[in-house]
Amino acid sequence: MFEFDNTYTKLPSKFFANVNPLTVPQAKLIKFNETLAHELGKNGEYSSQQLAEIFAGQTILEGSQPIAMAYAGHQFGHFVPQLGDGRAILLGEVVAKNGVRYDIQLKGAGRTPFSRGGDGRCPLGPALREYIVSEAMHALGVPTTRALAIVTTGDFVYRNSKLPGAIFTRVAKSHIRVGTFEYFASRRNKDAIQQLADYAIARHYPKAQEHDNPYIAFFRSVAEAQISLVTTWMSLGFIHGVMNTDNTSISGETIDFGPCAFMDEFNFHKVFSSIDHQGRYAYANQAAIIMWNLSRLGDCLLELVHKDQKKAISILEEELEVAHNLLEKSFTQKIAAKLGIEDSCEEDHEMITAWLQYLQKQKYDYTISFRELTKLVNVSQNNFFENNVEFRDFLSMWRHRIKTQDANETQKKMQQVNPIFIPRNHQVERAISHAMQDDFSVFEELNKVLQKPYEEQPQFEEYQKAPREEQKVQATFC
Ligand code: AMP
Ligand code: MG
Ligand code: MG
Repeated sequence: MFEFDNTYTKLPSKFFANVNPLTVPQAKLIKFNETLAHELGKNGEYSSQQLAEIFAGQTILEGSQPIAMAYAGHQFGHFVPQLGDGRAILLGEVVAKNGVRYDIQLKGAGRTPFSRGGDGRCPLGPALREYIVSEAMHALGVPTTRALAIVTTGDFVYRNSKLPGAIFTRVAKSHIRVGTFEYFASRRNKDAIQQLADYAIARHYPKAQEHDNPYIAFFRSVAEAQISLVTTWMSLGFIHGVMNTDNTSISGETIDFGPCAFMDEFNFHKVFSSIDHQGRYAYANQAAIIMWNLSRLGDCLLELVHKDQKKAISILEEELEVAHNLLEKSFTQKIAAKLGIEDSCEEDHEMITAWLQYLQKQKYDYTISFRELTKLVNVSQNNFFENNVEFRDFLSMWRHRIKTQDANETQKKMQQVNPIFIPRNHQVERAISHAMQDDFSVFEELNKVLQKPYEEQPQFEEYQKAPREEQKVQATFC
């Protein structure tokens, strides 16, 4: 099916454990992403049952070397020296048609040496959720892991209740995380950190090799990728929910769609995750958290950056300062672009804040508000917005700011960065609850709509609507 070309398994054995997927009673194919499979170089014809056996880990494809990767991580700020793939099994790597190397990984295929107390399983609900949201992210233009397949296992998974078991197949540029570096750093294994850094540089940031100190360039590249990612999330009203360092990927892709959510009503402090009691990963905190996570990566790289620790610290502090400035600029630039401003500058911050505070005060839907604003480029008012003093203040700043730009062009640009369709929680939940009754039609339809998030799809208007009070999802779960 795929031409595997594995490189991670060539690293020393302490980087991973060889594992075998669990035997399951009855693999059944729920969803297969044929387009993605094709991009990954899929060859041959397979029946639905053959695909089910492959993506349940029952047929091990030629060239596949199943492993669980070792990693550590800071979870909610607390260091855990050993996490690792407790319910994920890497089947192998393929070089796709675009020349990029991808990991193909099963999630929920049974226990591994890193499972600790966990069962190594995945219920169907979270698999459907990850499929919908990760593919929607991709269509929105956000770097993300992708969804290749879902199978059910015929087994049950026990959480608060008895749930159908599933295996989700994830595709990523790699599964190296900040936590992978922390795993070796906490074991004071400098050689391994260097091997991992060299591997990550070769795989993700080969240009860093040309730099006088490739490890500084590597740190800067990861910082730039993560900052761009997190500000893109924020510009879409996305709240990741578990920005632990083990969920912060070195390649800069969104990874681990657990208790994540796209906000409906805008609120700087919004939290959905049922386990985020302190609001550590609230919407607006994501900016500070990515800086904190990057600092943890910096800690791991100290010895590679300079043999004199004091010098190493000062070099990385300087890098973090640069990164921090970039973060502010990037956030301003992305929100300004949503407001139709082509050449954002620091002064735009005031207007952006005024706008977001107005949305928060009015409890307006984040996505719909931006889309409604695109209409105001050409007309003086519409009846969506409450015309209060805050709105008039914002509006006058905004009109002044865009008046030198071509109106039609501005509106077109705004429409390209302000989606109509996002995977709204209540729709995702609706798709899952239908699927639990063996009706996958909502799941299929939702996936289809979300493939074209920036285009009008009048026949699917229901999916662009904000939830009614009784439809609102208050909390999301891992
Ligand atoms: P996450 O919250 O998904 O980022 O997972 C954090 C850690 O818990 C990782 O090491 C996972 O592999 C592990 N984990 C999560 N769920 C399970 C499970 N059901 N069985 C075993 N390990 C798990
Ligand atoms: Mg994780
Ligand atoms: Mg998870």
